[in-house]
Amino acid sequence: MQVRNPRNGKYDYELVVDSPEQVGQKSKDLRSAQASWNSEGVNARVNVLLKLAEKLEEQKEDIINQLSIDTGRRKISRIEFDGAIGLIKGRCFSVPKLMEEIPVRDSFSNPTVRIKQQQVPYELVGVISPWNFPLLLALIDTVPALLAGCTVLLKPSEVTPRFIDPLEAIVEAMPELSRVLKFVRGGAESGAALVDNVDVICFTGSVATGKIIAMNAAKNFIPAFLELGGKDPAIVMADADLEVAADAVIRSAAGATGQACQSLERIYVDHTIYDAFVELLCKKIEQINYNSNYEKGGTMGPLIFDKQATKIENQLKDAIAKGAKIETGGTVDNINGGSWMMPTVVIDVNHSMSLMTEETFGPVIPVMSYNNLDEAIRLANDSNYGLSGSVFSGDVEEAIRVASLIDAGGMSINDGSLTNQVFDATKNSFKLSGLNGSRMGNNGFTRFFRTKALLIQTAHPQSIHSQEEDSSSV
Ligand code: NAD
Repeated sequence: MQVRNPRNGKYDYELVVDSPEQVGQKSKDLRSAQASWNSEGVNARVNVLLKLAEKLEEQKEDIINQLSIDTGRRKISRIEFDGAIGLIKGRCFSVPKLMEEIPVRDSFSNPTVRIKQQQVPYELVGVISPWNFPLLLALIDTVPALLAGCTVLLKPSEVTPRFIDPLEAIVEAMPELSRVLKFVRGGAESGAALVDNVDVICFTGSVATGKIIAMNAAKNFIPAFLELGGKDPAIVMADADLEVAADAVIRSAAGATGQACQSLERIYVDHTIYDAFVELLCKKIEQINYNSNYEKGGTMGPLIFDKQATKIENQLKDAIAKGAKIETGGTVDNINGGSWMMPTVVIDVNHSMSLMTEETFGPVIPVMSYNNLDEAIRLANDSNYGLSGSVFSGDVEEAIRVASLIDAGGMSINDGSLTNQVFDATKNSFKLSGLNGSRMGNNGFTRFFRTKALLIQTAHPQSIHSQEEDSSSV
């Protein structure tokens, strides 16, 4: 597969794809290593993962360089790398406590029986990740699964695969890790083969692919943890600090060029502050530039995935045809062969437009006015997605009340996209945004176990005669 450099549009890297047979062989090898990995205990696994973090730090510049080439952004790649290290260290710190043995106890329902509970990890976990944060989203499920005692087969996105080479080289140089973590390179076909070979699948990506994965997982009778797209709403209440709200909305909606699942994509603003808020957004956006020449600074990087530009343009065309107006931005610019887009504020929008209903995954900020809070909540909930969202208000208690009424798994109060900065709060993805246990918080670790009950009879077992019919049973 040819891989494109988003800053210049050139295909300058070749990805050698794993065949389904190779995926099958890697799965077999991993399965044969799982029992000993599990029996080593959690503290030994923590040491291996901490050593991985150390080795990653040693190769930091090379990995960041590969991420930068694939995503067209240097600063964000650096932040992403540090986030990945924080993720490993955080999990290593928290998981030993979660694996403490549960004391054996008497059963409440049958007092002669003692109960011993065990946590049994899945043998082989499959991880399939997307292109927007290639390293972090590859490791976010991999790390807790390994710590739980599972082995992992990981397939990063074929759109941004360059970091696999240095990461795999580090893993290969650690025999204690390379036997339990293997990589698959490729796209849909390799991903499908992976789903056919594992015991549980953790998938991050689009709703369309998530549905295919869910169906294939169902066919194989394995659990699928799905983290999918979003159309995150923000409600800006009349008493909100407009400076706070505008800064947070712009960073959340247009940061990483809007290519984040938890980007704010719909902004509902109280009608009394609507004009002032739109004006403030546009004024702040005037200070933002492309970073097409790294040396000259600038904030906005290119769109990573070339097909994304067409999708964004089509949504804008549809919105304009239905009466929307672009206040600032609005075009995809070709610079040196890459596709670039400035933060784009769109007004006069409504829910008949795909811009307000479908995930955009670009730096577009549609702003709609509301007359009262009931209307704002109804509009925010009028969506097939339920990933996350924001509420801005001077009254935090009122903001919490409103946030509680939004159908989404993670709500930020007086900020945007806090779910990408906080890994230790449990949160589910609602509606089409995902399925099954939270990847965040303790549950992001415990979901890799099946709980087993060992039931120890301490009295003489009941005989079959206890079921004998007599006059009392009539
Ligand atoms: P995608 O669905 O196109 O691809 C994701 C991964 O699935 C890739 O590795 C791809 O090769 C693989 N794949 C494709 N078809 C497959 C198949 N039939 N079987 C198995 N694997 C297959 O998603 P994308 O475009 O890479 O990523 C962007 C999407 O990811 C957006 O919708 C975004 O919202 C979502 N996302 C969600 C989260 C979250 O935590 N909820 C985080 C980041 C991104």
